[in-house]
Amino acid sequence: MKVIMLGAPGAGKGTQAKKLAAKYDIPHISTGDIFRANIKNGTELGMKAKVYMDQGLLVPDELVVDLVVDRFKNPDCEKGYVLDGFPRTIPQAQALDTALEKNGDAVEYAIDVDVPDSSIIKRMSGRRACVGCGATYHLVTIPPKKEGICDTCGAELILREDDKPETVEKRLNVYHEQTQPLINYYNTKGILKSVDGTQDMDVIFNEINNIVES
Ligand code: ADP
Ligand code: ADP
Ligand code: ZN
Repeated sequence: MKVIMLGAPGAGKGTQAKKLAAKYDIPHISTGDIFRANIKNGTELGMKAKVYMDQGLLVPDELVVDLVVDRFKNPDCEKGYVLDGFPRTIPQAQALDTALEKNGDAVEYAIDVDVPDSSIIKRMSGRRACVGCGATYHLVTIPPKKEGICDTCGAELILREDDKPETVEKRLNVYHEQTQPLINYYNTKGILKSVDGTQDMDVIFNEINNIVES
């Protein structure tokens, strides 16, 4: 199963992608997570990406596409994957299609998690990410069992630097300009599915399951 999660920053793509990947035992591939891991490890790619991420801008396509296409070569991708945060521009989507077509392959579902901008700001200010395993919580809607501590690995939870309100606004603008056009791109291909992302996390997951099982 090859699935793409679309949606604004903070719409809940990652939350749903992790659940779907776990259920189908396929990898959850998040380009944001890959960049953050590179930043943490001080790699050259990480240092390049950080300059853009800190400003709420997209990392240039040429730094993203090969990274993802290489990741597909890993044997864990044999049964498919859930892509989260990629593609984020039309050129990235075209590059993905071209890479898959070479193997007679294609994306099966592009699932848009739809949340209005007014709710996004609240989502982002409450988002807390684990420094250890990358798990995501929310202060109000999805709190950890113990304040400030990851349920899964026990590491500290932090507010991402780019989740501060000044940067969120910038990221939303970037989303509308560069990423939202993908909705039409996948709609034209006949594989777009939309879910109302303002619902409870489990209700959304049910709807997504119905989509991929249909
Ligand atoms: P969110 O979960 O809020 O949508 P991500 O973790 O996916 O954010 O991405 C964080 C940042 O990493 C983005 O703001 C962008 O700078 C960079 N990034 C992640 N994926 C991509 C991509 N496919 N293309 C360009 N930049 C990306
Ligand atoms: P994205 O990957 O699209 O940037 P996340 O999955 O990280 O978004 O979710 C953004 C924030 O909203 C997180 O703090 C997450 O815990 C919370 N969240 C996710 N889904 C829901 C939901 N259905 N209702 C309320 N809060 C949610
Ligand atoms: Zn953790």
